[in-house]
Amino acid sequence: MSSILLEREKQIHRTGKAGNAIECSKPSLAGSVSQRACVFCGSRVVLYPISDALHLIHGPIGCAAYTWDIRGSLSSGPELHRLSFSTDLHEREVIFGGEKKLYSALCDLIEKYKPEAAFVYSTCIVGVIGDDVEAVCKKVSAEKKMPVIPVQAPGFNGSKKDGYKIACESLAKLVGTSSREIPEISINILGDFNIAGELWILLDYYRKMGIYVNATITGDGRVNDIRNAHKASLNVVQCSGSMMHLAKIMNEKYGVPFMKVSYFGIEDMSDALYEVANFFKSEKLMNKAREIVRNEFARLMPVLKTYKAKLEGKKAVIYVGGSFKAISLIKALRLIGVRTVVVGSQTGTADEYEMIRELCDDDTIIVDDSNPVELSQFVKETGADIFIGGVKERPIAYKLGLGFCDHNHERKEALAGYEGMINFAKEIYATAMSPVWQFTKQE
Ligand code: SF4
Repeated sequence: MSSILLEREKQIHRTGKAGNAIECSKPSLAGSVSQRACVFCGSRVVLYPISDALHLIHGPIGCAAYTWDIRGSLSSGPELHRLSFSTDLHEREVIFGGEKKLYSALCDLIEKYKPEAAFVYSTCIVGVIGDDVEAVCKKVSAEKKMPVIPVQAPGFNGSKKDGYKIACESLAKLVGTSSREIPEISINILGDFNIAGELWILLDYYRKMGIYVNATITGDGRVNDIRNAHKASLNVVQCSGSMMHLAKIMNEKYGVPFMKVSYFGIEDMSDALYEVANFFKSEKLMNKAREIVRNEFARLMPVLKTYKAKLEGKKAVIYVGGSFKAISLIKALRLIGVRTVVVGSQTGTADEYEMIRELCDDDTIIVDDSNPVELSQFVKETGADIFIGGVKERPIAYKLGLGFCDHNHERKEALAGYEGMINFAKEIYATAMSPVWQFTKQE
């Protein structure tokens, strides 16, 4: 029996074979057990790293389970984000409404933790019973004299990608509410979530170039910096799937231009520095960028060469949230001798899949919005050695007996920047070459 549902065939493409462009950006097929998460989860992922804000989940306790200190976003200051609060709705609130419970939870938590702002997330059940979350937030905001922002994200109302958009709209309510003056050569970093301290690696490059980083949205994020984000000269957007909507809003409303970059792999990391220097039309910045790239290449290439010699010929499966990151991963793997044989994402766009198609060797499987059964079949069919994915892909890899690299929000090792490239090569080597896999292979 085929593992691919008939209605999903157009979301799977094999490079080098004739056929139309891959279909994407459509709702998941009922019954296909998509790897995608819900709308609420998408919004929570984006807003979670704002470390001096209160994050209150209005819904049953189950919705909050996955968010309690499970993500690797680090903070250099407050750590309120690591606590996950829920109104813990029960039958009583489902029948009589949960507004009173929400109001009292908000007031108590603000009193106790004194956050700079509060985000209140609506979940599926709140969408069904129709609590007026907006009105409660408005009331508390007026009483406590602080931003209390509703995040209208009932899980059933689309997919994770819709949650990103809702989070951006919530952030847009904060942007522009402060007016601190900042230097002209300034940027905001959008779409880096400071997983395992990655943002701090990037900040160091920009600092060496002489660029002022105004707000980091949302990795190691602070409410007051986000309020002042409209003052920056440029928005530099990584993880464009989650943050491009905010960049577009800021462009329309405040005229802040934006550019899309990736900090994964040495090629894309270097391009990011050059493109930012180029934007400011400054020879001084460009020279600084060249100096960083030159030094890092000299440091990295000999190390990567040794990994390449050992990994040459290995095959990888990539399945990540957004397809833009997959492009950088394909290039980074190539640098260490690993060929990508399957590549897919939960929320990729047609343009990005086209770039992937052009980049990959013939016979690479490209897949949109996949599920465990399909992914397992692709692993077996291609004889892959390594799986790169997130928390939901880890069990698939281990059950099939192949190495796994977590490239999602739960990881504890920084994979961005030049330092991240070394860590990535090290991890791919360790997992692909582990002696444990000899015991999983069937005779
Ligand atoms: S789908 Fe609904 S019930 Fe499930 S976690 Fe998301 S918001 Fe909560």
